[in-house]
Amino acid sequence: MNEKDYDLTQCGAIRGCPKSVVNIEQLAKNIELALGECHTDDHFHHKQQKLRMALSGCPNCCAQNLIKDLAAYGWAEPKVIDGNCIVCGLCVQTCRERAISLKDNAPEIDRNRCLTCGECILTCPSGALTKVADGLVVTAGGILGRHPQLAKTVRRFAFEEGQQLILNLLEKFKSSPRTGEAPGQAIIRVVQEEVG
Ligand code: SF4
Ligand code: SF4
Ligand code: SF4
Repeated sequence: MNEKDYDLTQCGAIRGCPKSVVNIEQLAKNIELALGECHTDDHFHHKQQKLRMALSGCPNCCAQNLIKDLAAYGWAEPKVIDGNCIVCGLCVQTCRERAISLKDNAPEIDRNRCLTCGECILTCPSGALTKVADGLVVTAGGILGRHPQLAKTVRRFAFEEGQQLILNLLEKFKSSPRTGEAPGQAIIRVVQEEVG
């Protein structure tokens, strides 16, 4: 499978966007490597359509993840470190989900509101908010055109696990071409086979 058979859009994380919380560049290289090993071009899926993928470094999804066949975005979960807060209020101002409040001179995070975007971690000047975990949210099935629909979340993963799932999905996608099947349909099929 060569580059003309797929589009892989990466967000501004590859140009140094400070909001990125995971390394999508390495993931993109691994995806390109995996797709490049495919030699089934002659009978590959639907000839007129490309496989459309996107990678974003955070939940802002600037690479338009939700209208792609297969995509992933980074997440980072904040944790409060007791005793480090200098009560500057920057985290409260930064959080667009209004998930942080200050109580007894320390931040308190409402986990029901938190999107795990990691912006408060990047903003905190004193280390009172640190990253306790990060990873990828994998999405699939987004499409525009005559019958548009937004992609659905496959699952939230730790980074390595999410990367492995994407590579497994692409392996299955390459190895089971069906004549006339659009790439997006094929991705939905292999997600169902692999994840259920
Ligand atoms: S998705 Fe996040 S990391 Fe990527 S360009 Fe947008 S804000 Fe920056
Ligand atoms: S990770 Fe994002 S959504 Fe969650 S508390 Fe921090 S800034 Fe708010
Ligand atoms: S940004 Fe950090 S130091 Fe400032 S109030 Fe929030 S947790 Fe405290």
